[in-house]
Amino acid sequence: MAGRFAPSPTSDLHLGNLRTALLAWLFARGSGRDFLLRIEDLDTQRVTAAPEVAARQIADLTAIGLDFDGEPVWQSERLASYARAVDRLDSYECFCTRREIAEAASAPHADGYRPYPGTCRNLSEGERAQRRRTRPPAIRVRADGATQTVTDRWAGEVTGVVDDFVVVRNDGVPAYNLAVVVDDVAQGVDQVVRGDDLLSSSPRQAWLTRQLGGMVPEYAHVPLAVNTDGRRLAKRDGAVTLTDLASAGVTTAQVLTRLAHSLELAGAGEPVTPEQLLTRFDPDTLPRTPWVVT
Ligand code: GLU
Repeated sequence: MAGRFAPSPTSDLHLGNLRTALLAWLFARGSGRDFLLRIEDLDTQRVTAAPEVAARQIADLTAIGLDFDGEPVWQSERLASYARAVDRLDSYECFCTRREIAEAASAPHADGYRPYPGTCRNLSEGERAQRRRTRPPAIRVRADGATQTVTDRWAGEVTGVVDDFVVVRNDGVPAYNLAVVVDDVAQGVDQVVRGDDLLSSSPRQAWLTRQLGGMVPEYAHVPLAVNTDGRRLAKRDGAVTLTDLASAGVTTAQVLTRLAHSLELAGAGEPVTPEQLLTRFDPDTLPRTPWVVT
């Protein structure tokens, strides 16, 4: 049994990311699970500094006192596993551009996601050969409008219609939804704690988990950190990373206190350790609204 934290090395972790990581650690350790770290670097191959960013992310997580079981797993080293998983799926090539999908699809979901209307689902071999000459295909899994329900710790039962979503992008890179599921299954992850911006992806991922013979994990999608305008916290919101905060004279211990206080697990300014927080941690009494970082 394991929980995990799975950052993408696009930029340094900010207070919101650190808080989600602390929660994932508390959930895992509080239920006797291993806690794994996975670097989701498939999308960042072109970001030359990605390995350095990932190294800083790992150092920052360790600095606030979180520990991990085993070595971090890097998605860029697992391409063969993703390819093997795709081979096991009922899938097809899709040549649609973003624009074609926008024109053919029904209205986007609240999160902006456009369910795929199935345009390329039944192309003949001849049609595919012809299209391949103009555009490399993406690979979509054939879900045939299945519905999938997941249980989230706070949102309860969430049901989604699963469209034929992309499993390999048309630049050959495995899609996030594929990689995350392949890895969670391979690593024995049965508890997924992450930001609630990913709640709407969970029925798709749970469905794929079952296609690949895995057990659907339990989910806890946690409220995000926001700035005073109510927008998702970002680096431009001031000193929000450990490095920036250290330059402003805020110690790592003080950051942990601030995170714990935001989770109502410590008083303002009270020095704490992650182990102490573990003894106070109760998923049922955590705040369920976004954390406004002032
Ligand atoms: N890599 C994703 C992110 O940084 C998280 C994926 C997940 O937790 O499933 O937002």
